[in-house]
Amino acid sequence: MTSDIPMKFDTKVVRAGIEPDPTTGSIVPPIYQTATYVLPEVGTDKGFDYTRASNPTRQVLEANLAAIEGGAHAVCYSSGMSAVDACMKLLSAGDHVVCSDDVYGGVSRHFNKVLARYGLSFTYVDTSQPETVRQAIRPETKMLWVETPTNPLLKVTDLEVMATIAKEHKLFFGVDSTFATPVFLRPLELGADIVMHSTTKYLSGHNQIIGGVVITDRDDIKDELKFIQKTIGAVPSPFDSWLTLMGLKTLHLRMARHAESAQIVAEYLEAHPKVAKVAYPGLASHPQHDIAKAQMSGFSGMISFELTGGLDAGRTVMNEVKLCGLAESLGAVETMITHPATMTHAEVPAEDRHARGLTDGLVRLSVGIEDVDDIIADLEQALVRPQ
Ligand code: PLP
Repeated sequence: MTSDIPMKFDTKVVRAGIEPDPTTGSIVPPIYQTATYVLPEVGTDKGFDYTRASNPTRQVLEANLAAIEGGAHAVCYSSGMSAVDACMKLLSAGDHVVCSDDVYGGVSRHFNKVLARYGLSFTYVDTSQPETVRQAIRPETKMLWVETPTNPLLKVTDLEVMATIAKEHKLFFGVDSTFATPVFLRPLELGADIVMHSTTKYLSGHNQIIGGVVITDRDDIKDELKFIQKTIGAVPSPFDSWLTLMGLKTLHLRMARHAESAQIVAEYLEAHPKVAKVAYPGLASHPQHDIAKAQMSGFSGMISFELTGGLDAGRTVMNEVKLCGLAESLGAVETMITHPATMTHAEVPAEDRHARGLTDGLVRLSVGIEDVDDIIADLEQALVRPQ
């Protein structure tokens, strides 16, 4: 049994939680594409009764993800958003959440337009500045929710400092670690109670599914998350669970390439006369570069930048690239370019976007694992166009 042997990180990615199928020896876990399970007799089951509650393929995925993140339990959901939603369902009406200001636009849309109607309230602060977090905490605050690095400005938050604040005020401390992945950042080791990922992104890695996961060491949180999972039913299908598992097997290799190429692309952009500003945690010019260097083992594959020509220049580049796909998502093998103001963050009110530094000209780049020379050549041919 692989569960009996010690494994280093890269081995866990490929093997943890995955045993040969007991019936056939299949090295790849079977897809148990079933809704229900026949019981041997009333009151007895073989560990499964209904796929909303549990499914063997999903269970393998959850065991693998828990091991990779270094947590005791993983609970999978049908999207990153349903994973965020499950975390917020740990709370009750009247509770207050302090949240990073530069979160993915779908997260703030969910908080402000859905959860606020059920009596939760939210304060958004720049969590890279710990004092702003302390000032935002109220007696009814129950959760500190941090995204790091943030989407799309790549702000980095010191998680050990956040864990101390959360402990002092007895808050749940949740981290959306989608951009970092467990290859580069393991928030549970830094004091988080909850780590959440959109598995749609780097973890599955091939633009093949929509999914989410929450990982925790705490049994009380796991029990509640599992209860929410089976009660609400936002579960990944067995096939999506299997596709995610297949993608995960190369996570460590892909992330090394994403990060290596992103550093090269970020340096190329920073030196380019038509580029006004680049945000990438691996650049010495990044305001939280030292924190990123201390708490992450790599800087992942996301970059955002602004052109000297502003919005019109950004639009030209995004329309003229050929290898980079103009697309909403990130974290896959293909390089993707995004205009946050009209795409991922379109529903964040313009004044809120501008207040947090998300300008209309900002371009977000998810650097893929193609040859980096080809990625740069594509950006260059788009940047030299008249803007
Ligand atoms: N968190 C972050 C940081 C994201 O970028 C996204 C999606 O882009 C989500 C959560 C939501 O995930 P999903 O699209 O899988 O629902």
